[in-house]
Amino acid sequence: DLSAEDKEMYKTLAKEDWENKNKNPSQNQIKHNSVVTIANDNTDKFKVNEFKRKREHDEVSSEWLPGRQVLDEKFYFPSFVCLLEEPEYQPLEIAVVEYSLRNGIERTFHKHINPGPIPQGYRFIAQQKSNLTHQIPVEGIALPEDTYPKIYDGLMYFLSGNSGKIPPLFVRISECDKTDMCLKWLAKKAGRTYQLKRVYELESLILDLDAHLSDRPKSINSCKQNATDLISSTIFDWDAGTRCQWHEEKGSKTCALGFVNRYCYCLSDYFCENFDIPVTDQHLPLKKEVCYTLIPSISSQKSKNNAQAVSNGRIENLANEVASRMRVLSENQEERIIQEKQSSQLKSFEQQKRWAVSRGGKDHETDLITNEINISREQCQNNSHTNVIENKNGIATSDSSKRGCGRGLLGRGRGVLGKTIELRKPGEVPRQPITVQSTSHNIQKQINDTENLYAGPIAAPHPSTAPLPPASWVT
Ligand SMILES: [Zn+2]
Repeated sequence: DLSAEDKEMYKTLAKEDWENKNKNPSQNQIKHNSVVTIANDNTDKFKVNEFKRKREHDEVSSEWLPGRQVLDEKFYFPSFVCLLEEPEYQPLEIAVVEYSLRNGIERTFHKHINPGPIPQGYRFIAQQKSNLTHQIPVEGIALPEDTYPKIYDGLMYFLSGNSGKIPPLFVRISECDKTDMCLKWLAKKAGRTYQLKRVYELESLILDLDAHLSDRPKSINSCKQNATDLISSTIFDWDAGTRCQWHEEKGSKTCALGFVNRYCYCLSDYFCENFDIPVTDQHLPLKKEVCYTLIPSISSQKSKNNAQAVSNGRIENLANEVASRMRVLSENQEERIIQEKQSSQLKSFEQQKRWAVSRGGKDHETDLITNEINISREQCQNNSHTNVIENKNGIATSDSSKRGCGRGLLGRGRGVLGKTIELRKPGEVPRQPITVQSTSHNIQKQINDTENLYAGPIAAPHPSTAPLPPASWVT
């Protein structure tokens, strides 16, 4: 079932092989080794591909004008969307574009095709493919007047015009067979003789054009993947106005017209930039200026509110935790200070007593000191009981709660900022200045006994507005 060209190619390869074997008969013996046989098979495939590419290149680029005149050369890129690919290709949609590097997309041919009856047992596959990709109903959406002869003749006219000369077609490597089969299917359905030449690889065309314009030797083998990557780019997949009306409305990118347009955009994107070709509206999709107003959905608003509530609760919990820790710290500190003061006083009195005894002092002297020790003990115990009190404004204060952050010691209001302690029970008459007696020398210390006032604002702000404590406090 090989074409005349393929037969010729294999004949040439067989001839070359036969000649090589005759030149080097020892190679026949090596063939018995299975590993080498596989290697030879791969070499043969490589040779076939190389031969094919060389022939395609010669056929395609031999007629190109030199240098930048190739920018005016017209190329045709077809694409098909199929209902089924087996047992045979049944196209639903065809698109072909005429493209030149200088002018971009010049003309477009697009039709929906009646795919014909679905073979028995293939309806499910066809429907599944439709749902997942092209979204065209399995019976097709061809217009009644678009009969097979009309579509085929229209395609031939689009490609050849009045000249009658059919130009080469270019499709990506993976779609060469599919395109060839679809064109043959269409010709058969239209009752026409298949007139088209071979379908060529678009990747090879890109590399040939690149080599031609940059005037350097081409390296097809090493760079073909680069060309495949170039036309596989998805950056133009969703540009408005690049697909047919059906696929534009369905929001599907599996559109024959979309595919061929995207090939053109990818080529323009590369060649215009690298070979100083002015970009026109036909080279790249039009960027429509669209103004959107983003309105948050009700559900997103709800979740935002919930998040805010959770966040507020978290801050409040944090503030409470910090306040309680500070309370424990301040209580511990006060207790420690009192204990130190008490023990130092006791020590000094006891030392005085020892000195008095060693001096052989009188009894009433040691009795006096013993009384002072007892008074001191009592006083310290009283202090430790009243060191945390509530003043008449109902605001708890303590000498170590001067920072004013967090809640007060009794959990109501904030502490007093920079105020001295008031050791006084509610309703108690202000005491006389207390004299703290030192053992080495007497120091009169006046305790500020003026009325304390709450220093913060009248309405205390919510704890959530307080700055967060350092992370080391919380952990
Ligand atoms: Zn389409």
